[in-house]
Amino acid sequence: MVTQIKISRTKHSRISEIDFKNLQFGSQFSDHMFAMEYIDGQWQNHRIEPFGLIEVHPVSASLHYGQTIFEGMKAYRGVDGKIRLFRPDMNHKRLTDSCIRMCIPPVELETFLSAIEELVRVDHQWVPPYEGQALYVRPVLFADEGSLDVRPANRYRFLIITSPVRGYFGAGSPAVALKAEEKYTRAIQGGTGSAKVGGNYAATFLASCQGRDEGFAQILWLDGVEHRYIEEVGQMNICFVLDGKLVTPPLRGTILPGVTRDSVIQLTHDMGIECEERMIDINEVIDGIKNQTLQEAFGCGTAVVVNAVGSIGYRGQQYVIGNGEIGPLSQKLYKLILGIQRGEVEDTHNWTREVAIS
Ligand SMILES: *Cc1c(COP(=O)(O)O)cnc(C)c1O
Repeated sequence: MVTQIKISRTKHSRISEIDFKNLQFGSQFSDHMFAMEYIDGQWQNHRIEPFGLIEVHPVSASLHYGQTIFEGMKAYRGVDGKIRLFRPDMNHKRLTDSCIRMCIPPVELETFLSAIEELVRVDHQWVPPYEGQALYVRPVLFADEGSLDVRPANRYRFLIITSPVRGYFGAGSPAVALKAEEKYTRAIQGGTGSAKVGGNYAATFLASCQGRDEGFAQILWLDGVEHRYIEEVGQMNICFVLDGKLVTPPLRGTILPGVTRDSVIQLTHDMGIECEERMIDINEVIDGIKNQTLQEAFGCGTAVVVNAVGSIGYRGQQYVIGNGEIGPLSQKLYKLILGIQRGEVEDTHNWTREVAIS
């Protein structure tokens, strides 16, 4: 059963303040947001209301104990003018897994999809028109009960906000330099590394700030036991092209199961390229760079689609991959995924979901 969503529209749209030719990432928000509360054992008060500040209980477990999770996806404006979501069912599955891990009551698929679609419909003018741009959709779910007890809360909030974002990866944008991190750890088995949990990200800030000071764009995380096996990057999964095969770390509870990662694996498989999901030793990567059997490396995630890795810093040395620029498979996958999202390339896997604007 789909619950009715009550819609209250703003009287003061901010759409005219947006310069779609000069979008930033994540600092401008559309006119409306979706909200609902979990009270007395059920999600209720489903609504779309003007975007604005909210009141939160000062003793909420999300503020004190970090009981909060989120998701990230995009709505794309196609070449045909239609608006599409990309595999939102996978975001729902991951949200549900994150809910289970953090003892947060899950949200049904129909509620999740209709909330996103209705919100995108109400703010459809905020879906940017140019290639590479999109309306970023950010669901967030957090405890909001006034109790200092260290236990799962009895009350929660679910919000969805949207933000028009630029394409990350304009033509000629440089491949990034990563730092293989040996001191800090992002996740360990049995922890929360495979869930999109707020605290996972705060815990990485110190390493990424130090890396930035040393000239690295992002951190390449290694396993938390030996600091030897490759895990992932910030908000991207990592893939390598090694001896003509696509090689990427396995989902073993310490990395995020990315929607883009899954799509990259399927599309590469469609191209007849062999894919291996396996543990990758950092030394195998460094050796591969040195003897040129490692042809490409790229990060993949919703924000960037595919982002080439130009070099890896490890133990004070910088290792440049190939000529340090975007490789052919990275380029091809970027174009292909963007093409599917924009309705330019046939969607053979039935991944996109149109948001009909009446
Ligand atoms: C969100 C995220 C990803 C990428 O997932 P997508 O579904 O492809 O956007 C990868 N790693 C981490 C840590 C993330 O938070």
